Amino acid sequence: MVYKDLADIIFPNAKDISYYEEKYPSRNLKEGAMVLRVAPSPTGNVHIGTVYQALIAKKLAKQTDGVFFLRIEDTDQKREIDGGILQIIDTLKNFDLEPDEGMISETEEKGAYGPYKQSQRKEIYQAYAKYLIEQGKAYPCFCTPEELDEIRAKQEAAKIRPGYYGVWAKYRTFPVEDAVKKIQAGEQYIVRFKSQGREDRRIKHKDIIKGNVDFPENDQDIVIIKSDGLPTYHFAHVIDDHLMGTTHVTRGDEWLSSVPLHLQLFYELGFKAPKYAHTPTLLKSDNGNKRKISKRKDPEAAASYYQEVGIPSLAVKEYLLNIGNSSFENWKRQNKEKTIDEFEFQLNKMSVSGALFDMVKLLDVSKIVISRFSAEEVYEQTIAWAKKYDAELLKLLENKDYSLKVLGIERGNKKPRKDIAKWSDVKDNIDYMYDEEFFKKAHNYEYQVISDKSDIDKILTLYMEKYYNENDDKQTWFDKIKELAGEMGYAKEVKEFKANPEAYKAHVGDVSTVLRIALTGRANTPDMYEIMQVLGKESIKKRFEKAMEK
Ligand code: GLU
Repeated sequence: MVYKDLADIIFPNAKDISYYEEKYPSRNLKEGAMVLRVAPSPTGNVHIGTVYQALIAKKLAKQTDGVFFLRIEDTDQKREIDGGILQIIDTLKNFDLEPDEGMISETEEKGAYGPYKQSQRKEIYQAYAKYLIEQGKAYPCFCTPEELDEIRAKQEAAKIRPGYYGVWAKYRTFPVEDAVKKIQAGEQYIVRFKSQGREDRRIKHKDIIKGNVDFPENDQDIVIIKSDGLPTYHFAHVIDDHLMGTTHVTRGDEWLSSVPLHLQLFYELGFKAPKYAHTPTLLKSDNGNKRKISKRKDPEAAASYYQEVGIPSLAVKEYLLNIGNSSFENWKRQNKEKTIDEFEFQLNKMSVSGALFDMVKLLDVSKIVISRFSAEEVYEQTIAWAKKYDAELLKLLENKDYSLKVLGIERGNKKPRKDIAKWSDVKDNIDYMYDEEFFKKAHNYEYQVISDKSDIDKILTLYMEKYYNENDDKQTWFDKIKELAGEMGYAKEVKEFKANPEAYKAHVGDVSTVLRIALTGRANTPDMYEIMQVLGKESIKKRFEKAMEK
């Protein structure tokens, strides 16, 4: 009996690998085009790291007229969660990171290199496993879990490297005849790779991000096909990225140490290995220490968090690009009008060690991103968010024309307002601009410097009777507040006041503060002139009256 007989008994129906090699020809792409993928497992809520991976992969594919595809790695069926695949697809959609190929719903896909779901590729993996068995490069292993435990215990006791390798690989040299007998007797088995590697030899690898690394060769006879007939990650990675024509594997650096094994598998299967770029883990600073951002501890680790609190996808992507290529921030500052698609991302400029993910910084980026939006965009995105998460806000924004004016305050100019970081901030940010909200609330009107009640009432009355005119331009409007200040014995200029503080009760800025607080109930607001323009005479009058009642 020869290896071929063993292979036929294990995988009687598997096709010859030439079938798949022909079915999935090399891609016809222009020189330099990169083919990249994101390959998440539907085993839990989508992590922000997956968004990061997808962003980088899609960006590079786009930049080079290549292909970005989504592969679902669902070979660990015990850990799969309900709706896991859909969640991945929806996340990519929410971040505007749809793949060119791959799964587009739980059951449908597009592209000529599928199936893009590993559980549907069983026969492909088996064909290649059969090929390896025929060559004597893979073999069935009949070890029970107890036997494996026993091997490990012996290794531990003897203080030697654990694993299934060399002399410890019990079925590595098992005669083919005996293996066939066991299979025919119905014994359970898995398929292992017969490693030709040696632990005392080293393998060099040039990673695009990590640079030159070298590791001991892999000598472990790792499992390639599990007892359920599905492949392990390692085997599936090699087969899939070969057949799907991946040119660059971008993946988290937790896989870096598997490179010796993967290169070995590519080599033994006669495939050309892709280039690898292992991206640094997203870290969070926690009491001065850096640790992996974790779904268990950090809400921001979940990709869904950003939709929930209403951080625009663009802001998240801009922030992630910052983390990826630190030159992005500067580029964006100098190219405000350009879209992120125009930035050229460079894998080899990524930091080698961990990338710090900082929510405060992200929110700052988001403020800038939102400050560049038009009032209409802010309105539409806020409405979309409010429909899902905040019925009160939805109600508040019912009057679109008025809301556009409110959201348009200090927007579209050179220094646009930067006070909204997320859609869930909008309500607190603008509710005072709506009479129904403003008059519902009790305000405590802390006028700061000017505290005399009769002075305050006089400022408000005089302003309304003598100085306010809704048709004034901004300069006239401000000149009038100065006049009002002068008339009441306050310095018309802050400078004058500072030069001669004894001569005045306070200055024009303090008078403005009275107007502002009476008008809005707040000490900090955007431009008061614009606020008055939006509120209009009736509302201003009523607001001053309310303030005087107190
Ligand atoms: N399914 C693997 C993971 O989620 C993919 C790693 C890879 O991109 O190759 O970690």
